[in-house]
Amino acid sequence: MSLLVVGSVAFDAIETPFGKTDKIIGGAATYITLSSSYFTKKVNLVAVVGGDFPKEKIDLLEKHGVDTKGLQIKENEKSFFWSGKYHNDMNTRDTLVTELNVLGDFDPIVPDAYQNCEYLMLGNLTPMVQKTVIERLQKRPKLIVMDTMNFWMEVAMDDLLETIKLVDVLSINDEEARQLSGEYSLVKAARKIMAMGPRFLVIKKGEHGALLFNDEQVFFAPALPLEDVFDPTGAGDTFAGGFIGYLAKSDDISFDNMKRAIIYGSAMASLCVEKFGTERLEYLTAAQVDARVQEFVDLVQFEISLV
Ligand code: AMP
Repeated sequence: MSLLVVGSVAFDAIETPFGKTDKIIGGAATYITLSSSYFTKKVNLVAVVGGDFPKEKIDLLEKHGVDTKGLQIKENEKSFFWSGKYHNDMNTRDTLVTELNVLGDFDPIVPDAYQNCEYLMLGNLTPMVQKTVIERLQKRPKLIVMDTMNFWMEVAMDDLLETIKLVDVLSINDEEARQLSGEYSLVKAARKIMAMGPRFLVIKKGEHGALLFNDEQVFFAPALPLEDVFDPTGAGDTFAGGFIGYLAKSDDISFDNMKRAIIYGSAMASLCVEKFGTERLEYLTAAQVDARVQEFVDLVQFEISLV
C-alpha cells in the first residue's frame, strides 16, 4: 500500500558524549522515509529544502525507492537547521538551535500522483502544514499517524490541538505526553490525549521502550539493551517509519497488528542509534532488519504455565 510522508528534511549538528558532528543531513522525514523504505517501496515524500541541500542526499532517498517529486527545492533559501546536545545518559537532550528557514513559509503541495495514498505519516513539522496536507488529500487515508515535539507545543499549541483532532495515531515521547496533557501518570496522560482526537497513542520512552494505547488496551514493547548507543537523533522518527512502513506493507490496522508494528519500529530505532545521523539506515539489508526483529522476539518470549 502506498505511503505519504511529510516532515522536515534538514541539516543537523549533534553533540553526544561520543562525539560531535558538523552539519549532517537529518530531519524527521529523512529518517521516516529511509526507515519505511525497508518495508514498502511506495514511499512518497512531501517536504522542502533550500538550495544548500546536497543533491546526492536526494539521490540517496531515491535509491531507497523514495519518490521525491513532492520535495520542493527553494534554490535561494536555506534548509531547516536543528542542533542538539545529549546529556550523559543519552535519554535527555537540549535543543541548542532551531532555524526554520525554508520551513517558515512552507506550502506543502501534494502532487496528483500522491492522491489516494492509503497511509499518511505526518512527521514532525509545523502543525498547520501537517493539517494542510490532510485537507489537500481528496480521499481520507486509511490511517493517519502524526508525530510532533515539545517545540510545537511551546510555539503553536492551538494549531497542534486542531491537527491532533484529525489523526488516528499520535506518536510522542513521555516528556511530551506529560507536557501535552498536564498529567504525570502516563496512563492518565494517555486517556486525556486520546480524548483530544486520536484513537491510538504511542508513547516512546527512549531506552525504556514504547507503549501503545487505545481506549481499552495497552501494549508495551521494550527497547533492545544495546552495548553502544552513539547518537539517539532520529530514533523517534525511525521508529515511526518502521511502524507505519510495516502497517502499510501488511495493510492491517488492527490493534494486534499495531503491536507487531511497534516491534518493527523499535527494531529500526535500535539500528539507527548505533551510528551517527542517518548512516546506519543508509546501508541496511533486509537480513539485518530481520535479525534485529528476531532479537526482539527472543528478548520478550517466555512461557508460563499457571496450572
Ligand atoms: P527525533 O530524535 O526522532 O526526535 O528527531 C530528530 C530530528 O527532528 C532531527 O533530525 C531534526 O532535524 C528534526 N527536528 C528537530 N526539531 C524539529 C522541529 N521543530 N520541527 C521539525 N523537525 C525537527
